[in-house]
Amino acid sequence: MEATLTFLGAARNVTGSRYLLEFGGSRILVDCGLYQEREFLERNWEPFAVPPASISAVLLTHAHLDHCGFLPKLVREGFKGKVYCTQASAEIAEIALLDSAHILMEDAKYKKRRHAREGRKAPYPEVPLYTDEDARISFHRFRRCRFDRRLEVAQGVYVTFRDAGHILGAAHLKIDLEQDGEQRTIVFSGDIGRWHRPILKDPAVFEEADYLVMESTYGDRLHEDPEDLDTMVEDVILSTKRRGGNVVIPSFAIGRAQDLLYCLNHLFLEDRIPHIMVFMDSPMAIRVTEVFRRHRELFDREARHLIDEGNSPFSFPSLKMTPTSHDSKAINYIRGTVIIIAGSGMCTGGRIKHHLANNIDRPESTVLFVGYQAEGTLGREIVDGKKQVRILGKVHPVKAHIVQVHGFSAHADREELLKWVSAIKQPPRRVFVTHGEPEASRTFAAALRKKEWDVYVPEYGLTARLD
Ligand SMILES: [Zn+2]
Repeated sequence: MEATLTFLGAARNVTGSRYLLEFGGSRILVDCGLYQEREFLERNWEPFAVPPASISAVLLTHAHLDHCGFLPKLVREGFKGKVYCTQASAEIAEIALLDSAHILMEDAKYKKRRHAREGRKAPYPEVPLYTDEDARISFHRFRRCRFDRRLEVAQGVYVTFRDAGHILGAAHLKIDLEQDGEQRTIVFSGDIGRWHRPILKDPAVFEEADYLVMESTYGDRLHEDPEDLDTMVEDVILSTKRRGGNVVIPSFAIGRAQDLLYCLNHLFLEDRIPHIMVFMDSPMAIRVTEVFRRHRELFDREARHLIDEGNSPFSFPSLKMTPTSHDSKAINYIRGTVIIIAGSGMCTGGRIKHHLANNIDRPESTVLFVGYQAEGTLGREIVDGKKQVRILGKVHPVKAHIVQVHGFSAHADREELLKWVSAIKQPPRRVFVTHGEPEASRTFAAALRKKEWDVYVPEYGLTARLD
């Protein structure tokens, strides 16, 4: 049996997940992610490693853009096959890809104007990587799959989606290759979720794999204890209420925003915080929350129990969704403490900027960060303790309380990654550690080698033979 696997992204970095599996004359692309790290952005513009028309199928692990965000471009450049993913992933990917297209189009327009003004040429073209039209065309390729059903996607190539517990619909992929009575199993972890987290089920595990391609985002770190997390959020809300300020929470729209609602609802139900208004002020988070509401079959037992008792975590009495900008602006006129959840998660755009502009110079308010803040973002400047920041063209002194909690992560930490992989009984023929900063991947690979497994941290472009 001969198959090859080429690492076209998320190899010694964390974005642009793309793995090309070639077997029996078919080319299968596992994930089709967008590169988002500044130093690798030009890879989004390079010609694809093989002609997209020669790829038979794309398999998506989940709907985060670093796993699906390149799809519209692949389709525009000639990919004609099907895109297999779970139902919930397809629904969230449609929201995420349209949002991504709008941002790319806005950026291109802005860049063009700026370059014309400055009379210079850019290193990248001033056209969007893809448009909303390209995104819509790519949606026709989706084939929605159920969890735990084996499905033939090319001759001798079978895939099974298993719940990864990372975001709604996220899957680990088990791929069986069959030829002349021989079989090999390759497991792609996708992004691995966590145990005992609200809403989502625990990640599925695998007892065997001939080859394993495994993420290592937090391969060298541990998260905060989830018990402390509720207490930390409770303390922030109570102290801000005492001071008479607002709690402003920059949040990602997929997963994090819904986790926050779940956490707040839990604190309300246990009477740990007073019933103050909560505004979900992000059109994208509102649409994603609708997808959650449609897929309660994917929830864990506690979340389903809550719903059976008539307490949906996504529609409690003091929660108000504000889809229009008119509704959003009205929040400014409310007296007394409110909680505002808005995007973007790293404060690089969106409505959060207006709420920061209104609150960051108020010592009585709190800005609560619940997600990772990348280098070079407004969010990072604030958590790094800058005394003043520029928001919407104006400099504001930072006087609000700044709090950051890390425990909301949707990614397994080092201990959880080791727990996930320890379900595999026999040593795989080889393990490929991917989707991590070089240091995180190296550290995690070293931990796996203690099991005397053959572990490899592939570099970008490497082709491995799977025999
Ligand atoms: Zn993810």
